[in-house]
This record gives sequence, structure tokens and C-alpha cells, in this order.
Amino acid sequence: MILIDGKKAAAELREELKQEVADLKTKHNKVPGLTVILIGDMAPSQIYVRNKEKSANEVGLKSEVIKYPDTVEEKTVLEKIEELNNDETVSGILVQLPLPKHIDKQKVIETIAPSKDVDGFHPMNVGNLSSGYESSVPCTPLGCYLMIKKIEPNLSGKKAVVVGRSNLNGKPMTQLLLKENCTVTITHSRTKDLKAECLEADIIVAAVGIPELVKGDWVKKDAIVIDVGINKTENGLVGDVAFDEVSKVAKALTPVPGGVGPMTIACLLKNTVECFKRSQK
Ligand code: NAP
Repeated sequence: MILIDGKKAAAELREELKQEVADLKTKHNKVPGLTVILIGDMAPSQIYVRNKEKSANEVGLKSEVIKYPDTVEEKTVLEKIEELNNDETVSGILVQLPLPKHIDKQKVIETIAPSKDVDGFHPMNVGNLSSGYESSVPCTPLGCYLMIKKIEPNLSGKKAVVVGRSNLNGKPMTQLLLKENCTVTITHSRTKDLKAECLEADIIVAAVGIPELVKGDWVKKDAIVIDVGINKTENGLVGDVAFDEVSKVAKALTPVPGGVGPMTIACLLKNTVECFKRSQK
């Protein structure tokens, strides 16, 4: 069984991006810039943002974090986003979620210029992705996609089952696999027989949030299994896939932690570089 090493894949992607950023600097005499807006002092968000900033600096991006207290008015945040939309040195804007209750998440997402939307959440990017046009793609499914492609470069005709239909993971994942000519089934909490669906799959992507939902006897021999889930349990962090059981049947499997997670941040950097390149066309 191939253990898909997300840390290694992310380090390789960062190395490629570092070279690309250096080449862009030579060509345009400027580097892509990523601005993250962080509201409040929730510990996980602070850690994510710190990691994003560290990785951005490592590949040579210009990176900035704008911090607000969780009492900040929605208007202040929207005005700052407008300012960043008009700032030529900013290629990508990310507003770290979740937001305090008094701030309308959708309004924030829709205020970010689609051309700078490195999270790929703006309805214009969602629509472009589903229409098969150029767009920013949400970072987690993009990372899953890149890891699947490394294991199996030709996905045409493969059967894929995506477990979970969130806007963040399941839906964009489905679009990426469709684009590769997979036959995709998207499943969710009302799916009648999830085990039977999974047993059909050459590729399973699980993004649910239920510890070890996908069992060993749900997986076809030699399937590729990508585990997006991050669940805190008494036994530490576990994914949505029963790792020990599934590793006995799968051809390739991502661990939790150390699988999808590290690739998510690397893909944010990739999206920033892509936004910059499109802005220079
Ligand atoms: P979400 O928005 O809560 O969506 C969960 C999806 O799972 C929903 O579509 C839900 O169906 C479906 N579901 C719930 N119970 C199910 C069941 N018994 N059988 C089949 N489907 C079921 O979650 P999310 O934001 O996509 O996140 C999913 C997991 O990924 C979480 O553990 C999260 O922490 C993790 N995550 C990891 C990363 C990373 O970088 N590795 C990034 C983001 C999220 P309905 O639509 O019918 O409710």
C-alpha cells in the first residue's frame, strides 16, 4: 500500500512554487502578494494563519496579516476588502473563517474580487469551476486532486465516490474529478447505502467529519482513498477513514494527520501564484 505523504507532497509543491516565484520576480520585477484578514483570537485560526504566513514567506511571496478584534464592525472589514481589491501589490485575499456571528460570511466572500479569491469561494469562481472554465479552486479539494493525480495520472473512466457534499470540500472535489472524466457519485447523510456506493469506487474521497466512518469492507481492492476528515477523539486525531482496516485493501491512502492537511496550505500558495499570473496576462 502506498502511504500518501502529504508533508512530502506539500514540501515538493512549495519547492516548485519557490522557483516559480523567483522566475516571476525576474520577469515582472515584483512578487505575488497574499493578504490574510484574521478576526478575533480563536486559537485554531491563529495557528492556521501563522502557518500560512510562514509558508508564504518560505516560497518568497509578499505576505501580510491584518488583524481585527472580534468586535470589529462588518463595514470596516468590507471597506478593507475593497481597499485590497484595488491594491495592485495584493494578488490574493483570504478572510480566515469562521467569522463572528455579527459578520455576514457570504457578504464577505462576495466582496472579495473573484480575481483575488484564493479560497475559491466566490460564486463566480464556483460557477466557473462547475462550467469547466479557469477559476480559483478551494484549497483542500485542490490538494486532494493533486495527490490523486500523482498516484494515478490518467483518471479517465474511473469511478469516484465523494462522501460529503459541502461547498468547501465535497462539491468542488466532484467538479475536479468530473473534469478528469471520472464517473462521480456524490454522497451525503441521506444516501441510502453508503457502503454499497463506496464498494463501487476506484477512488474515494471522504470529507464528512465522522471518525472512521469508511470501513475496510467498504473499500474495493486497490482503490485510492483520500481522507479529508479531522476529528478529535480520546485517541487523538483521526480521519473519516478507518486507517488500519482500509490500509489492508487500498492501493493508496492518506494518513491523518500528515495527509490532506499540509497540502491545503501549499495549495493556498499555489492559488496566490495563479491569481498573480492571471493578473499579469
Ligand atoms: P461539513 O460542511 O460538515 O459537511 C459534511 C458532509 O458530510 C455533509 O455533506 C453531510 O451530509 C455529510 N455527512 C454527514 N453525515 C454523513 C453520513 N453518515 N454519511 C454520509 N455523509 C454524511 O464538513 P466539511 O467542512 O466538508 O468538513 C469535513 C471534514 O473535513 C471535517 O472533519 C473537517 O474538519 C475536515 N476538513 C479538513 C480539512 C483539511 O485541510 N484536511 C479542511 C477542511 C475540512 P448533508 O449535506 O446531508 O448534511
